Amino acid sequence: MLTRWRCNLRVRIAIAGAGVSGFATLGYLVEAFKAMPSAGVLIYLLQPPREIHTENLSAPQRDRLIHLKNIGINLSQLFGGGHVYHPVQPSLFTFNGNSAARGFNFVAQRYDTSDYFEWVQANRRLLATLYPDFAPEKGQQRHRDHTLNDIQGTTPRGVYGLYLHAQFLALKAHLPEHIALQIIPEALQTFTQIEQKVTVKTNTQKLSVDYLVQATGHRFAALRSEWVGHVFNAYPCDRYGYNLPPQVTVVGAGPAGIEVALHALHNLNVAQVTLLSRRAQSRLPQVEPTESYECQWFTREKMRLQPTAKNAKALLQQELKVCYQACNLPYPGWDALLKIEDYSTFLENYLQTTNQSPNHPFAHLVRPVMSFYDQVKDLLPAVEQIGVLQLINQVKPLFATQSRPCAELMLAALQAKRLRLMAGEFLPEQVTPTILHLDGTQAHPDGIILATGFVPSIPPFYPQSSDTRCYSVMGTSLSSVHSRAANVASVITRLVRRQTLHVSFVISPDLQM
Ligand SMILES: Cc1cc2nc3c(=O)[nH]c(=O)nc-3n(C[C@H](O)[C@H](O)[C@H](O)COP(=O)(O)OP(=O)(O)OC[C@H]3O[C@@H](n4cnc5c(N)ncnc54)[C@H](O)[C@@H]3O)c2cc1C
Repeated sequence: MLTRWRCNLRVRIAIAGAGVSGFATLGYLVEAFKAMPSAGVLIYLLQPPREIHTENLSAPQRDRLIHLKNIGINLSQLFGGGHVYHPVQPSLFTFNGNSAARGFNFVAQRYDTSDYFEWVQANRRLLATLYPDFAPEKGQQRHRDHTLNDIQGTTPRGVYGLYLHAQFLALKAHLPEHIALQIIPEALQTFTQIEQKVTVKTNTQKLSVDYLVQATGHRFAALRSEWVGHVFNAYPCDRYGYNLPPQVTVVGAGPAGIEVALHALHNLNVAQVTLLSRRAQSRLPQVEPTESYECQWFTREKMRLQPTAKNAKALLQQELKVCYQACNLPYPGWDALLKIEDYSTFLENYLQTTNQSPNHPFAHLVRPVMSFYDQVKDLLPAVEQIGVLQLINQVKPLFATQSRPCAELMLAALQAKRLRLMAGEFLPEQVTPTILHLDGTQAHPDGIILATGFVPSIPPFYPQSSDTRCYSVMGTSLSSVHSRAANVASVITRLVRRQTLHVSFVISPDLQM
């Protein structure tokens, strides 16, 4: 009886986008459906091939591409890493290995025998060939932290992308019989839902599915046609190359702006980069403290007593003071921290201090600060929520992270006067690419790279109704992507389970009794 109705339920799911969001969703769906052999599941994975502009690659990037091709890995059709972890990127586009462990842990639900660290060790020879420099790609010494022995530290993001692709292949090879995966090498163009059926269209195909998960990631805002050849988006970085002028302005001094500035300086023969941000401040490197620290002031409990942005600021100021004391460091004061006159000296001091001891207030407070808004937003009225967001944005440069090797390269570039930080903003409405400086003057640099953040690839235009069969998975960190994917997969499996019960009820006369 069981086998008679088992195959009667056929579920079709489309996932658009095979970056970490799409892959995590796929992973969670497969895990859940493994335990549901009564449902025959067909998953379509839509991922258009990536076009690589080889003329804009540095020699080590090109060598890597050729080597990977020789061993049968096609970089234009990889799965799992998406844009952010694509192996064609320069090796100085790094991330902290412990992000992989903390945020998006494939160890827990791995599809073959290796976790990221084991995989790196097993592939040391290949990785040493692919990333011989493991740092700046030309004219610089390999950074001491760039070693495959210390994988908990910094690794090129592309290595993680190769790992994810290997995991994807392993998952595909181990699919149970009742789950099929079909790759569609095309982009999702449109989708519509009528009752409980979703129609998904690509340029050449029309698929009818029960569920759609849109995991198409982020993209940069569109560039004006008048700017062609002068203004570029930071990613994908093979859209620009040796055609950049000797002086380049990078707009946005977050981790993306920093790595792109270093890429231009070290790999693309750019003589000088101006890194532009609202406060002429950049990001500090992530440091893992060896001692624990618990916030006394900057807590949800204290906010509950007085749920205002003003209170959040007072609590943070108090916490900083206490934390500096606990770390035996002189407290420079709130104003000095927010208005750093000499960023190069500030960064140098920070690197020296944290070299002596990683127990620094910024290291202790990075997670409490960066997660504070999410922790307290339900306590706050809308206007106070905005105030808290503004506060976090104001202090973010102290707490948000980049890798230590990148920070050291950045310091070297600042000291060599090849990199300078300036306050100002890019004016996106101007036909001539224009920078507005803090003193009101305008400049029109010849080469501008925008590293100012993302907008979603396709606006989520589907209704958020309870009977929607279309979901979106995206996030700005591995951990947020991870939890969103888990969530969406669990909603879909719950609905399918309900459907399975319904089918068994209808089909099996025994079960009707
Ligand atoms: C510079 C940078 C550094 C980061 N470093 C870290 C870090 O150290 N730690 C951390 O936790 N997080 C980090 N993040 C954040 C996080 O990892 C990313 O936000 C996350 O990888 C996004 O993955 P995604 O799959 O949503 O998007 P993407 O990687 O953009 O993947 C989306 C995929 O969808 C495809 N696609 C697009 N449109 C369509 C369509 N219409 N149809 C089908 N497919 C489509 C794309 O080709 C792509 O493959 C970093 C992000 C950036 C930008």
